[in-house]
Amino acid sequence: MKAILVVNAGSSSLKFQIFSIDGEHLTRQLRGQIDGIGTRPRLRAVSGDGSPLVDRQYAASEIADLPAASGETRRWLDELAGFELVAIGHRVVHGGPDYSQPVRIDAGVLARLTALESLAPLHQPNNLAPIRLAMESDPSIPQVACFDTAFHRGQAKHTDCYALPYAFYEAGVRRYGFHGLSYEYIAQRLHQVAPEVAGGSVVAAHLGSGASMCAIRDGRSIDSTMGFTALDGLPMGTRPGQLDPGVVLHLISERGMSVGEVSDLLYHGSGLKGLSGVSNDMRDLLASGEPRAAFAIEHFVHRCALHVGMLAAALGGIDAFAFTAGVGENSAPIRARIADRLAWLGAELDPAANQAGAVRVSTSASRVALLVIPTDEELMIARHTHALLGDLAGGR
Ligand code: ADP
Repeated sequence: MKAILVVNAGSSSLKFQIFSIDGEHLTRQLRGQIDGIGTRPRLRAVSGDGSPLVDRQYAASEIADLPAASGETRRWLDELAGFELVAIGHRVVHGGPDYSQPVRIDAGVLARLTALESLAPLHQPNNLAPIRLAMESDPSIPQVACFDTAFHRGQAKHTDCYALPYAFYEAGVRRYGFHGLSYEYIAQRLHQVAPEVAGGSVVAAHLGSGASMCAIRDGRSIDSTMGFTALDGLPMGTRPGQLDPGVVLHLISERGMSVGEVSDLLYHGSGLKGLSGVSNDMRDLLASGEPRAAFAIEHFVHRCALHVGMLAAALGGIDAFAFTAGVGENSAPIRARIADRLAWLGAELDPAANQAGAVRVSTSASRVALLVIPTDEELMIARHTHALLGDLAGGR
């Protein structure tokens, strides 16, 4: 069976999925991950219908880093047999100013993506490690990079710039926006779940451990809440979201914090976790009796509401608002509280539909459709990889 391997490599986990190819049709055959890399490595995978395929634990030294995790994943996939890998699609966080589309990877592309590491030092090196490894171990299998930034690259110049001297813009200091694969999937999915708004103005909210929103018109990104890095915009599990840069100057000049300490604070110690002192996980905050847990949720909802206002202004009004990712797909109470703050836009929640986790959670009288759309970034990567390598991937 010809298949595409999709790889999403992070700092401590490597997620993978296999899609079989039947002409134009892609079917998810399995999904898995190795997490706890370098600490308590564990390989788990389930088949397309959710039945368990493997659950193995390793000593920390056996899978000490991402290349080791990548190698082990490939060994296990080879053990499984039954698949002929014809392409590998990778999630790559940063495509810089140049890549507005997925791209087939060769040595030149890899060098350009490596040069972008300084724009996303926590993510890009991890994304590139499995690419490098596969280039060495399986040079005949084509690889494709799919970028979190690409969907936003069509934004107007006055939208993706900062009011810094223009030379900075030219040097790549811009608002890139992230979660683009998720938004692209949502934009496509609208044609099935709410065709009447698919060509209209929609704010999509990717609310997971990372969180952002995107203003979409006729399937294209008009504006988004994330900027130069994935720190901007909404408060997240451990990141603060929008922050006066003066705070950073203060931390450095008055508190004597080093760049590493500030970076750690902003990426790992802030957001819901920092504010609540309880957890970065919305489930824990909702279940907690701690006043500061409730306070952190209040802040999150408030900032979400403000950013919808901003993006609604970018679009000149909205036809729909779509919730996605961990919090957006699963938390009826958070959806209800955000929806409540959208009443001024004409949004009216149907509490029963919201509780039931329906796709459409607005009333029939609502002027704005409220939607819950589970995202599928991996399918998006598989589609891009298939489209780019269609001939090689065996369909066309
Ligand atoms: P990531 O952004 O890492 O890809 P997800 O989109 O899966 O992650 O989101 C993970 C987050 O979703 C968790 O940290 C948790 O806060 C939140 N989450 C998942 N299920 C629920 C739920 N039922 N209620 C509230 N929050 C949830």
